[in-house]
Amino acid sequence: MAQLNTGVRYIKGIGEKRAKALSKLGIETLYDLVTFFPRGYEDRRRFKRLNELTPGETVCVKAIAAQNPKVSHIRKGMDIVKVRVVDETASLELTFFNQTYVKDSIKAGESYCFYGKIGGTLLRPEMINPVFEPEDAGRITGKIMPLYHLTAGVTQTIITRAVRDGLTACGDVLPDPLPETVQNEYRLARSRYAYENIHFPESFEALEIARRRLVFEELLVLASAMRLMRNNTRKHSCSPLDGKNIDKFYEILPFEVTKAQKNAVSDVISDLKSDTAMSRLVQGDVGSGKTVVAVAGCWFTCTAGGQCAVMALTEILAEQHFDTFKALLEPFGITVELLCGSFSAPKKRKIKERLANGDIDVIVGTHALLSEDVKFKSLAFAVTDEQHRFGVDQRAALASKGDYVNILVMSATPIPRTLAMIIYGDLDISVIDEMPPGRTPVETFAVGEHMRPRVNAFIKKLVDEGRQAYIVCPMVEETELLSDGVKSAVKYTQELRENKIFAGMRIELIHGKMKAAEKEKVMRSFAAGDIDILVSTTVIEVGVDVPNAALMVIENADRFGLSQLHQLRGRVGRGKHKSYCIMFDGGGGGIARRRLKVLCGTNDGFKISEEDLRLRGPGDFFGSRQHGLPELKIANFAENMDVLTAAKAASDKLLDKDPHLDKPENARLRAYVKQMIENCVTG
Ligand code: ADP
Ligand code: MG
Repeated sequence: MAQLNTGVRYIKGIGEKRAKALSKLGIETLYDLVTFFPRGYEDRRRFKRLNELTPGETVCVKAIAAQNPKVSHIRKGMDIVKVRVVDETASLELTFFNQTYVKDSIKAGESYCFYGKIGGTLLRPEMINPVFEPEDAGRITGKIMPLYHLTAGVTQTIITRAVRDGLTACGDVLPDPLPETVQNEYRLARSRYAYENIHFPESFEALEIARRRLVFEELLVLASAMRLMRNNTRKHSCSPLDGKNIDKFYEILPFEVTKAQKNAVSDVISDLKSDTAMSRLVQGDVGSGKTVVAVAGCWFTCTAGGQCAVMALTEILAEQHFDTFKALLEPFGITVELLCGSFSAPKKRKIKERLANGDIDVIVGTHALLSEDVKFKSLAFAVTDEQHRFGVDQRAALASKGDYVNILVMSATPIPRTLAMIIYGDLDISVIDEMPPGRTPVETFAVGEHMRPRVNAFIKKLVDEGRQAYIVCPMVEETELLSDGVKSAVKYTQELRENKIFAGMRIELIHGKMKAAEKEKVMRSFAAGDIDILVSTTVIEVGVDVPNAALMVIENADRFGLSQLHQLRGRVGRGKHKSYCIMFDGGGGGIARRRLKVLCGTNDGFKISEEDLRLRGPGDFFGSRQHGLPELKIANFAENMDVLTAAKAASDKLLDKDPHLDKPENARLRAYVKQMIENCVTG
């Protein structure tokens, strides 16, 4: 019997030539072949009699060839074969284009099954290019057939046959990472059944059972891989911090912390008190108040004598954090400083000196903090904001500046918790799932182009009242690739400036292709109130707090993901003014509008992200490769959330009992987990 790592060309029935074709699809081994799952299925089980056929439908018929096929040469490169078939009710004309071999495979008087699309007219139906086989073969008609992804030179027939041969060659040595206990506990199908039915389902029920098993096993492997990776990276120990009672800090806050904030702070503090270094993610919607959690962590660390670093994406964000941290920490005698790349050399040198000898307790800054000559006396706590832009490497770089650094990451991308547990496998997670009281939700509308004049008038009205507005476009400049009607920030800025209704308004442009310093300059003057309308691309997504901005207009909103739109919307409604978000639906009509309506109906980032996942899948959600997620063969986070939850639970249970999967009953699982970890690291 063949092994799973056997090259496909050694499989009986495949051979050199077909192996070459298959390799174009990345199929090299028997394992690749049997895990090359169909992208869809075609139900060929419906049979009709010849007097029941309707043009347009695709069906099977059972019929006898009334004659031998006739070949005619139409023109250069075009031969057709015609044959008339009959059953007891009527007759049907079959036409094959450029398939002269048919001439020898159909014989007058013999019975066949044909599957194909009915053309012609009701009175004279015909079937074009049907697939067929002898009546009793039952290989490609009368069944649910798999549909595979193809590439040049590889047809469905080639793959389907190869997979069939592959499954036969495997015998019982199919891929099977599932420990038997898990298979039983979750009532999952056996692997032989799963592989047979995922490729050649007996019925759609069988297909579902097969799919569930395969999705489950893939997610079990993934969840286990992520957890083992975390165990590897997290093991380093840390001297426990003995800070003061956090209630002292709460007392000076101008507001009451929410329950969710309090829980997150407790998580952070218990990490700081423990002897394992913290790796924690605080996840919460825009405006949920993540900053105060970080400040509380700094406070606790400083009262225990440690230093803290807070890293933000841009200088303005760093400045804003600096103001917040300073205001809340200085009353306790904690020294807070700011360090940015744009500072003069002497100023930077001075700050670095004070940092190195311990005169500064909390340093807030940009990437500048990562520079080699930034040294700490006793860095114990590091915070990075918006982690999916910083990434793992920078986190590590920051952590390397102290002996025992606790890391806190803040992210405003709400994603379903289970998915977060998988994606941020190396981080513990605290979720802030509650908004501070008294927020008025941003009033949100999805509109069509016909509303343009009213929206323009509304922009004018708000600006006249002293408010500021954002207008977001999906792209920087016009490109030929995108169809008409997609607004580019550059061109639209021009149009707005020329539009009489906006005469006298200060309209500026910001986009990702501008130099960092230029962007900072524009953002700064918007924050200072020197710009009325800021036309932008999504660069403002991770933004600066501008409480006076009360309107967000999004052009071609159909081109954005829901989570991204929600993120953009979070740029307004941060002050005391009633705020609005208006999304133009890009003329997409019903479907686009319905999608956008999700945003009109809720302000809950988690709900929105779930919907977003359902609609788009995690690939688009945020380039999943960036998160070190391996490519999945069959599972889909959007559709398989419940299986994901079950698989995660199963994985936790297994690993609690057998942390390194050393037990013999987990050996198969361990092999697959090891493989997936390798894919994560090298992929
Ligand atoms: P984000 O989670 O988006 O980083 P911030 O931490 O910037 O949110 O908080 C948004 C605003 O809400 C800030 O002005 C902050 O002072 C305020 N805030 C935070 N927590 C509370 C609370 N519990 N009650 C009232 N206001 C709060
Ligand atoms: Mg924030």
